[in-house]
Amino acid sequence: MKITEHINNAKGKTLFSFELIPPLKGHSIQGLYDAIDPLMEFKPPFIDVTSLREDFIYKQHPNGLLEKLSYRKRPGTIAICAAIMNKYKVDTVPHLLCGGFTKDETENGLIDLQFLGIENVLVLRGDARKADASFIPTPNGHNYATDLLEQVVNMNNGVYLHENNEENLKTDFCIGVAGYPEKHFEAPNLKTDFKYLKQKIDMGANFIVTQMFFDNQKYFDFVNNCRANGITVPIIPGLKPVTGSKQLVNLSKTFHIDMPEDLCDAINACKSEKDVRDVGIEWMINQCKELMAFGVPVLHFYTMSNAGPTKRIAEAIF
Ligand code: FAD
Repeated sequence: MKITEHINNAKGKTLFSFELIPPLKGHSIQGLYDAIDPLMEFKPPFIDVTSLREDFIYKQHPNGLLEKLSYRKRPGTIAICAAIMNKYKVDTVPHLLCGGFTKDETENGLIDLQFLGIENVLVLRGDARKADASFIPTPNGHNYATDLLEQVVNMNNGVYLHENNEENLKTDFCIGVAGYPEKHFEAPNLKTDFKYLKQKIDMGANFIVTQMFFDNQKYFDFVNNCRANGITVPIIPGLKPVTGSKQLVNLSKTFHIDMPEDLCDAINACKSEKDVRDVGIEWMINQCKELMAFGVPVLHFYTMSNAGPTKRIAEAIF
């Protein structure tokens, strides 16, 4: 079922969903099942699986020369989505990236998804490779999420890259895109970033999932701005509790978000990492309660494939 149908069927009740990261190459899928099992009691209608583009590694040869190789550390997004859907009978949302995929590979991936009965996708530009200072598109790939979105919308209209026949199968993907309550870090200002978000919705995206935030007011302002500018699609808040003291800096640095002063003070006053975890979880429980009162359609958790903290939060609010 489509995410938008799940939300409509819930008739205003807030749903619970979460995101997983594919295992490192060479590891079994069992680790993901171990992360899913404790969360199934909260009846997620869908589970997201992230995607990671290739990066470069250097292999040293006996003669001392270094060979630069392209390598994907966490492959398997589509297969994992199919496996989870099959095992748990829930919908899955693969993250589709511009980076790391040619347009043809994307088309073939979308055909796989259609054959597998996976109806939802989250369309993203994707992070830059670690070795690159900024995002570099794959040759014959896409530059921005809008370009990738256009390809998915085209397929929903039966328009493929090379075959444009009347009788082409029209896919029917429900398409999500990313939104940034505190602005995407490359955007010169909120207004410009918002312009591109609006473009994604006008082109046919069906829902928005936000970057994580720790101050609900940023989400409320973002939603109000969207509504005032004619964006009517569901806006799903993405959430992650602080679970370690180093995250005050790391989350802020990695995701370009502000950490509220009260949260920083409470965490800095902790005597142990266990206390930090408790404070982080308590903060998130309060955030979730306020978001539910605001009427959010879904509380979507970035679990990093670790169920523990999310389970404690879900127990407190559902
Ligand atoms: P875009 O919408 O393309 O925006 C990128 C930047 O370009 C923004 O600053 C925007 O303002 C600007 N822009 C947009 N369109 C245009 C245009 N047409 N012309 C000029 N400028 C433009 N990363 C991963 O690698 N894997 C994942 O699985 C993953 N999952 C994510 C899930 C969520 C919910 C979120 C919020 C992010 C996720 N990311 C993931 C990170 C994301 O890929 C990065 O934040 C990336 O830098 C931007 O992606 P985007 O889809 O928002 O890009």
